Amino acid sequence: MKMSLYSKVTMGEQEFLIAEIDSTRYPKLNKALKYIPLDEFNDFSELKDTKLYDFYLELNKTEMKILNVADGSIGNSDPDQVAETMFYNNLMKFILSWNQKFYESLDQSHNLVLSETTKKKLNLCLAYFAAFDSYLSWILEESRFYSIPLILDAISEIEASFVLSSSFYYKQAAHLFRNFLELVVAQYYFSTNTKNFDDWRTLPHVNMPRFRGKDGMITNLRKNGKINNTEEEKLAQLFGTLSAYTHSKYEKLVHIDSKTKKSIPFGYNSRYFEEWMNLGIECMEIGLKILAKHTEDWEKQLEDEEDLLCPKCHEKAFETILEKYGKTEIMLHTCKNCNQQIRTDVLIEK
Ligand SMILES: [Zn+2]
Repeated sequence: MKMSLYSKVTMGEQEFLIAEIDSTRYPKLNKALKYIPLDEFNDFSELKDTKLYDFYLELNKTEMKILNVADGSIGNSDPDQVAETMFYNNLMKFILSWNQKFYESLDQSHNLVLSETTKKKLNLCLAYFAAFDSYLSWILEESRFYSIPLILDAISEIEASFVLSSSFYYKQAAHLFRNFLELVVAQYYFSTNTKNFDDWRTLPHVNMPRFRGKDGMITNLRKNGKINNTEEEKLAQLFGTLSAYTHSKYEKLVHIDSKTKKSIPFGYNSRYFEEWMNLGIECMEIGLKILAKHTEDWEKQLEDEEDLLCPKCHEKAFETILEKYGKTEIMLHTCKNCNQQIRTDVLIEK
């Protein structure tokens, strides 16, 4: 069903209801994904010339209908302008504040200067983190997910990994990438194995299914045509590599020099830092691809859906009332299950 979903925003004193003119977004997502892998860059002043910028703009380029609540008048926004403003207001701030965290701890403890290669690698790693974070906001905005706690926990693993790594806990930070992969894959797996999801959610003795192997989640996804052989192999290989950190392989300990196997004091270690960044880049890259596949499936399913779905709990029963703004009529639907409110321009017949 074609309909516009409205959300309320306040600009200055005035209230507006805004809605995307075309809310089918996966073609945009596919365009954005063409800019992955992202590229390295020297300095954040160059950010506008990077693939991250193109990725972000493709994803957020949206023509909006803007309804002025005071008089019911309707106008349109310029899609490029909206996306560019968001890029500076959201993404730029995000990336700069994380970058600062790394440099602050380096300054405080060692007065270290990163080599040009390491600096560029850190910029790339932060670019992936920013791409992932903006993709996540995009998913959450209109509920293109199967389980919100799984998605939110996946991003928490990444955040925690960056916090730990900026404080030199490289082994612990790498371990969290393994959790991240597991959660991203689990969300996709559970969306097509819903009985297993309910069991895992409700029964105390049921654990998260295995990642690899005969009954593993990635094997199941490949068998059902959700991921291809290359993607399965990539996930299996990364998961295996990361297990060395989870199970504390001797040479992965933060107090051991992985080359000489001699013990070292805790602190900045360029080799471990590079290793962590390379793993992060690989994990976030494949993570983005898996989430995108899931989003596309989910959106296609919604297109076929005749009824309105609650973005919060995915139930279909609503209490609907009519709101009038000048001559414009908007439907306000309240979910009977969770009280989530949504506004549309279409009357849902129940
Ligand atoms: Zn609901």
